[in-house]
Amino acid sequence: ASQTQLTWNKAPCRFCGTGCGVNVATKDNKVVATHGDIQSPVNRGLNCVKGYFLSKIMYGKDRLTTPMLRKSNGKYDKNGEFTPVSWDEAFDIMAEKFKAPLKEKGPQGIGMFGSGQWTVWEGYAAVKLFKAGFRSNNIDPNARHCMASAVAGFMRTFGIDEPMGCYDDFEAADAFVLWGSNMAEMHPILWTRITDRRLSHPHVKVAVLSTYEHRSFELADIPMVFTPQTDLAILNYIANYIIEKDKVNWDFVNKHVNFKRGTTDIGYGLRPTHEKEKAAKNPGSGDATPISFKEFAAFVKSYDVNYTSKLTGVPASRLEELAKLYADPKTKVMSLWTMGFNQHTRGVWANNLVYNIHLLTGKISEPGNSPFSLTGQPSACGTAREVGTFSHRLPADMVVNNPEHRKIAEKKWKLPQGIVPDWLGAHAVVQNRKLKDGEINAYWVQVNNNMQAAANMMEEGLPGYRNPKNFIVVSDAYPTVTAQAADLILPSAMWVEKEGAYGNAERRTQFWHQLVEAPGDAQSDLWQLVEFSKRFKTEEVWPKAILDKNPNYKNKTLYQVLFKNGQVDKYPSSDIADGFKNHEAKSFGFYIQKGLFEEYASFGRGKAHDLADFDTYHKERGLRWPVVQGKETQWRFKEGSDPYVKAGKGFEFYGHADGKAIIFALPYEAAAEVPDKEYDLWLSTGRVLEHWHSGSMTRRVPELHKSYPNAQVFMHPDDASARGLRRGDAVKIKSRRGEIISRVETRGRNKPPIGLVFVPWFDSSQLINKVTLDATDPLSKQTDFKKCAVKIEKV
Ligand code: SF4
Repeated sequence: ASQTQLTWNKAPCRFCGTGCGVNVATKDNKVVATHGDIQSPVNRGLNCVKGYFLSKIMYGKDRLTTPMLRKSNGKYDKNGEFTPVSWDEAFDIMAEKFKAPLKEKGPQGIGMFGSGQWTVWEGYAAVKLFKAGFRSNNIDPNARHCMASAVAGFMRTFGIDEPMGCYDDFEAADAFVLWGSNMAEMHPILWTRITDRRLSHPHVKVAVLSTYEHRSFELADIPMVFTPQTDLAILNYIANYIIEKDKVNWDFVNKHVNFKRGTTDIGYGLRPTHEKEKAAKNPGSGDATPISFKEFAAFVKSYDVNYTSKLTGVPASRLEELAKLYADPKTKVMSLWTMGFNQHTRGVWANNLVYNIHLLTGKISEPGNSPFSLTGQPSACGTAREVGTFSHRLPADMVVNNPEHRKIAEKKWKLPQGIVPDWLGAHAVVQNRKLKDGEINAYWVQVNNNMQAAANMMEEGLPGYRNPKNFIVVSDAYPTVTAQAADLILPSAMWVEKEGAYGNAERRTQFWHQLVEAPGDAQSDLWQLVEFSKRFKTEEVWPKAILDKNPNYKNKTLYQVLFKNGQVDKYPSSDIADGFKNHEAKSFGFYIQKGLFEEYASFGRGKAHDLADFDTYHKERGLRWPVVQGKETQWRFKEGSDPYVKAGKGFEFYGHADGKAIIFALPYEAAAEVPDKEYDLWLSTGRVLEHWHSGSMTRRVPELHKSYPNAQVFMHPDDASARGLRRGDAVKIKSRRGEIISRVETRGRNKPPIGLVFVPWFDSSQLINKVTLDATDPLSKQTDFKKCAVKIEKV
């Protein structure tokens, strides 16, 4: 029946990790308007320009509405044309192509790549299907390109993931330090809160550090453009300054901190179990070597102002101004970072080093004193990290190579012991190499555009997608460059076309209802994962020995053992609130989102990762975990705020067995590739305000597309004239890996210094990631997109 009235409901924004609330108006099965939700504590009614145009992201002319298989002469052909097929035909060929490598090579022969755009239950269902169903840990999210260094940084320093502070810190801090983050464009709503604080409180200072000048510099009291990679030295200089000026908070340090030399720690930011730590000589030691404060002080001593100024290119007086903010006991400091830190060959160290200076001064876990790692994806925290989609992880910070953790997962999932494999799965970059080498032969990509997003993808990714041995499935709402490289495209429902949940950067879990039907045959990623599981019998994927020991699991489909298992399917569809659609519940006959959420939430309850019950989130504008006895937590590790801190402790970093955080001695290390005579410029890549990531949604909104239609290469006017270039000239940007054509921009929002160029990556007609370097941080396996060497030539 046609609706004559608009119906308004709440949802979080589809785009960034800020997690703004929006009100969504629907009419006649269509989203017709959105505006900022005045009741949202995150954005208080404001939206950025992307959020403002949310209502249009689902209605691009080329929206995918039916599965498409490459065919010729009526049959699947790797070099055939995309041809519409039914879901049955799509799943038939997909099951055949997944079963072949599973039989021939075992679970190592298949893989999946997802993202922090999965809803909580989609990511969780994918983890269950791959890690338990197919017994393959070859599943990774694009958070590997985005947040992996932050995760490993948290795990090493605190033994538990995600920020201790929250957005309330914005109204309490006296100083904001942006370490490699252009918040004015990437987190504009949070930037309005900083701007408000700065302009209404004259004593407040803003420091902005970057390798080039960008819009956030407009508010900077302490602007700082430094030589790429030397942020590591600046961080050590500040630690040295604090020690030399006798500004160490001794009471805090003596009670709550251990010192370690951290260069020998193991990969992925893994840590030994608490049990092992307790048994070790030095509890909380991890793999790193304990050192004394004296040894730490001696280590950072060489990072004096003269050395650091020379290395970084930043005047000594400016470095001192910045160090004073941290050293002054009366100044509450919020440090903020995103990709400038995380996309770094020493991204984990950068994260550890900023915690060092907050821990040395005790400026942590209280209003306004907050080292805060921001996220780019809407559910980088809530899904990619928390439900265990990384190739080494399980839900609630557990890891696959820990036998106790595997046992807990198997018990929660009501599965036989030994089902979850113990090997570390292939991470994003290794997945591409294994596809190229023909080691992974069946591969499923959901909610990301990796062909555009991943470094050096045309050399490392495309050959794997087009390898005749491989079958590539891409689920998306639009025909992205990744989808076009696939063998099978599955049309996905997006945002309010399904019921969902995201977790934002301040640990806030937010829910929304399905408000409209997806177009044509498009289906949610959850539906696709669960429906696909019906095509596999346990006998086809699980070892005979396990099934012989557990005969109850014989003759069952993966759907039956993973999803229709008595605990996921125990919630009836009648639980759905009146007036809301739920396509998946209708299709499967039970409230699958609720079942998956409650099962997942049971992992974290009582483990400092408590979530509220499912129904509560549909009523609230999100809650920040841990949620204990109905109360959310603003500042973790702080007595009186965090229910997990024991009385009388003041602060307790309970992620480590001895309740202490770790200050790491870590050196400056040069970048993986630096400019030389031939490739004489640094290249940094990033985003723009108008487009979200690869632009697959925002470039289909006419207003956003028109406002920023194409990427350019931002360069210093002197660099341009030295090459005989003028603004608007077409140029080739060349690296050792590839080249693209772009146009010179010597004015505008980004002002690089001499010797560096900046290119945004939203534009699929200029694939800058043909040029970038896929060097990864050895601990987090995250790629450095911010530094490589290029040359620029006139076309
Ligand atoms: Fe808020 Fe980010 Fe959405 Fe903009 S894109 S409205 S800042 S959540």
